[in-house]
Amino acid sequence: MSITIGVLSVQGDVYENILSTKAAIDELGIDGKAIEAKTPDEISSLDGLIIPGGESTTIGHLSLANGSLNVLKEKIDNGMPVLGICAGMIMLSKTASDRVVGKTDQPLLNILDIKLERNSFGRQKQSFEADVSLDSINIPKFSGVFIRAPSVSEVGPDVEILAKFNEKIVAVKKGNVIGTSFHPELTQDVSLHKYFVILVK
Ligand code: GLN
Repeated sequence: MSITIGVLSVQGDVYENILSTKAAIDELGIDGKAIEAKTPDEISSLDGLIIPGGESTTIGHLSLANGSLNVLKEKIDNGMPVLGICAGMIMLSKTASDRVVGKTDQPLLNILDIKLERNSFGRQKQSFEADVSLDSINIPKFSGVFIRAPSVSEVGPDVEILAKFNEKIVAVKKGNVIGTSFHPELTQDVSLHKYFVILVK
């Protein structure tokens, strides 16, 4: 069976995630494709979804405005695997509060039982790259690119912690839902995208 993985193409690192997903599909020799998706119809036809990094307030408000927020929630609640990267992980969360500004009225999907601190490592200028380990999913060393990245300050029951950096939680998983603070699409290493493709398959 051929699989279709969509990258939510509202705002953010869409193209980079399409390229990484295609590379992962090719390396695995799986029959599948990676496409852009943003309308309710496009989202309905997907087997898996990546919500890319970018700006979660923009992604949330635009998804609400075009009617896709409810469809996203329904599909993911019904088991569609999803990888939320940075702003994408914020979108998946139950509550998110900015380190400086605090809580805003940004629309969230409220799917993953986690509490997030947005911009937890500082502003754009404080962006950095650091190695992280995701041992439980067999990725012992991964170069994490952190750009205005959130961290997870609380996890609910059954949410697995996949990685920490400087005592802060930076990757989580519950069932088919994965969230990372860092940007795997901005490295040449597609092991996390491969892990996701296999999950979808
Ligand atoms: N700080 C951004 C937000 O709160 C996320 C940054 C990113 O995705 N690189 O939406």
